[in-house]
Amino acid sequence: MLFCSTRNENVNVPSAYAILNGLADDGGLYILHSIPEIKAEDIEKMSEYDYHKTAETVLAGFLPDYTADEIAQFVKNAYGVQFDTKEIAPLVKVRENMWSLELWHGPTCAFKDFALQMLPQLLPAAARKCNEDKTVAILVATSGDTGKAALEGFADVEGTKICVFYPHGGTSDIQRLQMITQKGNNVNVFAVKGNFDDAQNGVKAIFTDEEMAKKLNENGIMLSSANSINWGRLAPQIVYYYWAYSRLVANGTIKCGDMIDFCVPTGNFGNILAGYMAKKSGLPINKLVCASNANNVLTDFLETGVYDRNRIFHLTDSPSMDILISSNLERLLYMLADDAKVSEWMAQLKSCGRYDIGADMLKKLHDEGFVGYYCDDQVTARTIVTIYKENNYLCDTHTAVAVDAAQRYMTDNESNIPMVVVSTASPFKFAPAILSALDEDSDGDDFEKLSALEKAVRQKSPDSLSMLKGKKPRFEEVIEKEDMKNKVLEWLTK
Ligand SMILES: *Cc1c(COP(=O)(O)O)cnc(C)c1O
Repeated sequence: MLFCSTRNENVNVPSAYAILNGLADDGGLYILHSIPEIKAEDIEKMSEYDYHKTAETVLAGFLPDYTADEIAQFVKNAYGVQFDTKEIAPLVKVRENMWSLELWHGPTCAFKDFALQMLPQLLPAAARKCNEDKTVAILVATSGDTGKAALEGFADVEGTKICVFYPHGGTSDIQRLQMITQKGNNVNVFAVKGNFDDAQNGVKAIFTDEEMAKKLNENGIMLSSANSINWGRLAPQIVYYYWAYSRLVANGTIKCGDMIDFCVPTGNFGNILAGYMAKKSGLPINKLVCASNANNVLTDFLETGVYDRNRIFHLTDSPSMDILISSNLERLLYMLADDAKVSEWMAQLKSCGRYDIGADMLKKLHDEGFVGYYCDDQVTARTIVTIYKENNYLCDTHTAVAVDAAQRYMTDNESNIPMVVVSTASPFKFAPAILSALDEDSDGDDFEKLSALEKAVRQKSPDSLSMLKGKKPRFEEVIEKEDMKNKVLEWLTK
């Protein structure tokens, strides 16, 4: 049960190595040579399991060199009291034949917690398994959500340190406060003068700096990233597809073996790819509906077979999906073609921003169940209002993009198959956009908007958001992008 690179089938590394190193040397992504099978009888039993037991069962196959005891301990640590419900990922009925899988009950109120609560468990163990006794230092450039989720996951995890860079003035008030008030003795946060790309390029430059690597090595430190292409982030996301399915079996909606559909609000393609992994390992999934916002590069790709990033970049109300290069798509391409083809397409993407997989491959994609839909901010807002008024269900902007896609897919295909919409963020995390959708616009800062939304919908916002207001900032330093390297070095070697 070894991993190869999507650009070279002859690579053979264990999962610990893939997790510790993130990206393969050839620039490809790590993937299992063969996808483990989860048998129908094991899926049947899951309807009696809690989230933890489901996670232990599913992860065993996808993290082959971790022991059952390790996985059980990690699952317990990752999905504990930091979630505001024992169910961890509640499946809520929205309307006839449509459910919402709420992945935002974790510490940062968005689905990235599922991966970033688990990765900090997997990484130090991966280092031990690879006979690496150095401290693993994680560097993250963030436009908002990933940084906080990573900080929250790695805070006070032994054998690790984490440093986050965000663009000064480039995040919402709440996102900034979430990061600069972070607790933990192994964390650090800097605002960088510049935009997200400046922060991202600064981090990339640190990773490839040989002098830096040498100095850190002398101090017993190795650098790693918490990037969404890391296998340690992908594997934990497979679990909740099984979980959603087994909830529908448990509540009598379906019999074990019946097909269901999922609709996933998509950016970097990590979440929906985890759904495909669930399908390939045996979960009866019919369609995987890929929902995009105005940055509809994936919708076009799933319709034409041409991936073309040469287009206008839109800043939308669903910012976590504002992406033109969906890195994890490379794993899907590998699963349907081969390493030579993937290498060729990725080289074309790099040189001219475009590749064409051809009619046969496109047919394969459709046969595997992939369909794409997209909508703009206006339709997103309208969907939030309709679902709230007609079904009394409040969803965030990212989820609304998926609700719209799910509805249109079901109408276009007269589908009676149960549809699970993957809900990726708490509506309170995007209060300003939700308020304006509901036509309850108010003046004021993010916190005033949070209270205005609470009043408008008569629901309480998650404590982790509302309690931010009184918290004391710990990290207020604003730095030049040229100083990023020295700041990291200073902090890690002091
Ligand atoms: C990251 C994110 C997404 C996109 O997920 P991918 O795995 O990158 O496709 C969607 N919604 C929210 C709220 C997110 O934070």
